[in-house]
Amino acid sequence: MDSLSMWEATAGERKSRPALVDDKHCDVLIIGGGFSGLSTSYHLQKMGHKTIVLEKNTVGYGASGRNGGELLSGYHGTMESFAQKKGFETAKTMWELSLDSIDLVENISNENGISCDLVRKGDIRPAYKISHLDRFKRDQEYLAEKLNFHEISIIGRSEMKTELNTDFYHGARINERGAHFHPLKFALGLADAVENLGGTIFENSEAVHIQKDSASKAIVTTPKGRVIADEVVIVTNAYAGNLNKTLKKSVIPVESIMIATEPLTEELMQDLIPKNRAVSDSKNLLYYFRRTADNRMAFGGSGRAFGKKAQRMLFDNLREGMVTVFPQLKDARVEYRWGGKVGFTQDFLPYIGQLEDGTHFAFGYCGKGAAMAVMAGKVLAETISHPERVNNPLKKENLRPIPFHSQHAKGVGLMKFYMAFQDKYGK
Ligand SMILES: Cc1cc2nc3c(=O)[nH]c(=O)nc-3n(C[C@H](O)[C@H](O)[C@H](O)COP(=O)(O)OP(=O)(O)OC[C@H]3O[C@@H](n4cnc5c(N)ncnc54)[C@H](O)[C@@H]3O)c2cc1C
Repeated sequence: MDSLSMWEATAGERKSRPALVDDKHCDVLIIGGGFSGLSTSYHLQKMGHKTIVLEKNTVGYGASGRNGGELLSGYHGTMESFAQKKGFETAKTMWELSLDSIDLVENISNENGISCDLVRKGDIRPAYKISHLDRFKRDQEYLAEKLNFHEISIIGRSEMKTELNTDFYHGARINERGAHFHPLKFALGLADAVENLGGTIFENSEAVHIQKDSASKAIVTTPKGRVIADEVVIVTNAYAGNLNKTLKKSVIPVESIMIATEPLTEELMQDLIPKNRAVSDSKNLLYYFRRTADNRMAFGGSGRAFGKKAQRMLFDNLREGMVTVFPQLKDARVEYRWGGKVGFTQDFLPYIGQLEDGTHFAFGYCGKGAAMAVMAGKVLAETISHPERVNNPLKKENLRPIPFHSQHAKGVGLMKFYMAFQDKYGK
């Protein structure tokens, strides 16, 4: 699903960067030019390290330039469940890291003058089923009592119109910390910031092979050149190819699709989402949506289809979903349709760590990486620069390929079928 995204169409002029030719040397080579890679480079440059970023396509080509631009806190699962599994202190650090990730995006934008239409008015999770409100309530109480976080409120159906002008949902959870932005403008601005700090980015430069020389330097080969580096970071997430088999077989790529309407009137958008929050609902096969700076509705959902006809149907279904939520949009023309790959892990948590040969990695933000990938880049940079100071609650040790990984497409298909069944018939 490589058609032009609304973000690409509205990002403004794009600087093109050269491909790597010949040999180059650096302290840290970063493979992947999305939020994770650019943020790793940005933070390392600030710490005085010389970095090179290799991007197979162009900056933001992967999920970072295609996502819904919703900056959200938390993970898949409640903090209470993580406290039970991982211990309270780890869960607390995880929660703080996710809150800090949104601040980090905002700070980087402000410090570097990145105009990425960032709106920080909170996020809202509307309840698809009435039982989901109980879940929200329990979560809210846990966060307030145990983690001293008091910025979540729950509203019932009768108050919904102050947040969303739809009868589709039973109520909602609101988190005042959330935000949304133009993801590709941020990626491009971050790339400029990297270069302003002295970092180098090569586009159309796929890393195809990594080897170690006798002095333990890594030699990374692209079709036309090589980089010789002390450290290597691979942050290719759901776009991982055959460069490293362990990483490729540890990430589960799941397609997500988006549509964007033509620009609509300020009055209509104000009526639909009065507080201009980022929205992602509580369906298993969720809908996520928000206003854009030019008053479009950007609306996303789940999807994976082979062939033109099936893809058309998928986008038509998503449009139908949008009109079911907001019948007011029945005449709105859909101007853009696009999709991308979301990286999932087996336990639905992001992984940040090192392979046995010392290569650093971060991936698997499970659809919540717009802010977290930027934070992962900072954690990677700190791990490389000052490992003794890092308290990484998402540290992944002994990464092993997922058994039967080649069957993941079937597995995801089955899982989606089950999730759709749960949405329809479950509690
Ligand atoms: C449609 C969609 C909607 C989403 N919506 C949201 C949202 O609203 N909120 C949210 O929090 N998250 C969302 N996400 C998830 C979020 O976008 C990702 O978690 C995040 O962007 C991951 O960033 P990344 O840098 O790790 O990976 P990516 O941005 O995918 O970057 C990986 C890069 O690696 C490059 N690459 C691959 N192999 C090589 C190689 N061998 N050599 C060089 N380069 C290589 C790729 O070309 C790619 O550019 C969404 C994702 C999608 C697809």
